[in-house]
Amino acid sequence: MSESTVKTRPSPRKWLLTQNSDLRRIGVFNWTLPAFVIEMPDGSHFNVCPQAGVCAQLCYARVGTYRFKNVRAAHVRNLLLCRDTPEEFEKRMTDELSHKRYVGKWIRLHDSGEFFSDEYVLTWMRIMRNSPGVRFYCYTKEISRFKRLVANDAPENFLWCYSLGGKEDHLIDLATERHADVFPDVEMLIAADYTDQTTSDLLAVLSDSPLVGIPANRIPHLLKKQGQETFGSLQRARDEKLRAKNSGTNQDFALVH
Ligand code: SF4
Repeated sequence: MSESTVKTRPSPRKWLLTQNSDLRRIGVFNWTLPAFVIEMPDGSHFNVCPQAGVCAQLCYARVGTYRFKNVRAAHVRNLLLCRDTPEEFEKRMTDELSHKRYVGKWIRLHDSGEFFSDEYVLTWMRIMRNSPGVRFYCYTKEISRFKRLVANDAPENFLWCYSLGGKEDHLIDLATERHADVFPDVEMLIAADYTDQTTSDLLAVLSDSPLVGIPANRIPHLLKKQGQETFGSLQRARDEKLRAKNSGTNQDFALVH
């Protein structure tokens, strides 16, 4: 075969969105960032989850396969793309979402990581509006950011569920606003009148009840740390402790002055 007739195989397309077997079963693709505070390639540190509270100590995305070198590197690449070159990110993501493999599908934002800045939220909202054939959902602990930027101006193809275990839990109306709590097991979440989302993660945004219960991942040392509490109850206890500490500090201040 002469050189001119040698066919070079095109390199496989590099997708930004991925799918594990659980998500494939329900037709969901996933966009992932690293979890919590990470060291960047230049040695600096960055907090991807600014409102993380007790969840940071119980986070499944900081252990196991998420710590594999190649997995971490892929997540850091995603973060660098959307944080440092947001215009390129927006273009690449919008182009990718126009591919036929996403027609009628759901995209879950952040099985790990969060909406770390206003600019990043607004970028996603533009991507969603420019991808009308695709639907998006997420859990988030960025409660004030969402109430300020998203709640009154949400793209039609976007649903979300607040999630407990963060520093802004107190901003959620637990009786009326959709939210998720992580329980030690299914029995406990049913006893608390939460809807079990085990059969499909999409129940986080599609269940009739706004109270969404998630059984904790079966990771022994995290289960042990969580004990019989939920992420929400642990955060309330931490908030209470902080309040008591701060009011003690104020009292001391008052006594001195
Ligand atoms: S916000 Fe989510 S990803 Fe971030 S530390 Fe908490 S549980 Fe982990």
